[in-house]
Amino acid sequence: MSDTKITPNPYSPYANADPEWRHLIPSLFGIVPEPGVLCLTACDRMAVAPEEALKDATDGLVGVESLPDGLCPSCVAMAKAGEVPVPARSQECRECGEFGTQGEWCALCRQDLHDEWWPTREAAKA
Ligand SMILES: [Zn+2]
Ligand SMILES: [Zn+2]
Repeated sequence: MSDTKITPNPYSPYANADPEWRHLIPSLFGIVPEPGVLCLTACDRMAVAPEEALKDATDGLVGVESLPDGLCPSCVAMAKAGEVPVPARSQECRECGEFGTQGEWCALCRQDLHDEWWPTREAAKA
């Protein structure tokens, strides 16, 4: 019996990680991202930091035999191997024209656009 299936990261139109999975967001220098912030994931995509379980999930991977269902397999593989994913093909950003590996927007513009959009998301729902 397992009720440990975890929910995917919160939605953002500027996230490009697979929305089906919960992605691991590595903490940088021990700093855990604030909930609602768009972050780079272990699989080199971008996803929103969830409200709960702020403890860096990558810390828990070592020595854990059964991972919760719903974790991104690429993130898990990266975290376990301690490897850095091969960056995707570079593409010109629609906002700033810089080349980046996050698709139609670069990582920085995605974060800016997300930060502008995030406070308005409830209003859009209502
Ligand atoms: Zn992932
Ligand atoms: Zn950009």
